[in-house]
Amino acid sequence: MVKVGVLGLQGAVREHIRAVEASGAEALVIKKVEQLEEVDGLVLPGGESTTMRRLIDKYGFMEPLREFAQSGKPLFGTCAGLILLSKEIAGYEEPHIGVMDIKVERNSFGRQRESFEAKLSIQGVAEDFIGVFIRAPHIVSVGDEVEVLSEHNGRIVAARQGQFLGCSFHPELTEDHRLAQYFVNMVKESKE
Ligand code: GLN
Repeated sequence: MVKVGVLGLQGAVREHIRAVEASGAEALVIKKVEQLEEVDGLVLPGGESTTMRRLIDKYGFMEPLREFAQSGKPLFGTCAGLILLSKEIAGYEEPHIGVMDIKVERNSFGRQRESFEAKLSIQGVAEDFIGVFIRAPHIVSVGDEVEVLSEHNGRIVAARQGQFLGCSFHPELTEDHRLAQYFVNMVKESKE
């Protein structure tokens, strides 16, 4: 059985743990840097990317997270987690972890639509996936190696670049675990 960590500094942690377990993997809340060594893949949850960044720095997670990415292990960023992964953030000079070749824009679905649900077609995952968007970012542009998995109203909301998976919405907030399952499969394949 593969073991998947969920970065547990802030945000929707418990829900991801449940989704990972429902997808047939062992799940671990990561609160200490040393725990990263125990897992084969890592979920970066939604929440608030600036708060998460502050806690990442405070607890010395930045270098270990970059090393984790360099080791080739899969990472799945959802919402704020997607922002943490991306190499470029519109309006900001520096990225956070900055390993996935995409550019994101924060809070980009407009004020009136602070949160909403939309039915999404996600390539290789589902044609009827309900995405829960909460002050969500979207992916403005992607590099050559990045595969666009889903768009909503012409905006990219899910993408994959080899070991990196990211989405704008919160897949852990519904009982539909197909995207979590897709990530657990990525982790299994990378371990083989
Ligand atoms: N708006 C948040 C940010 O910019 C992301 C929101 C979320 O994760 N639900 O970090």
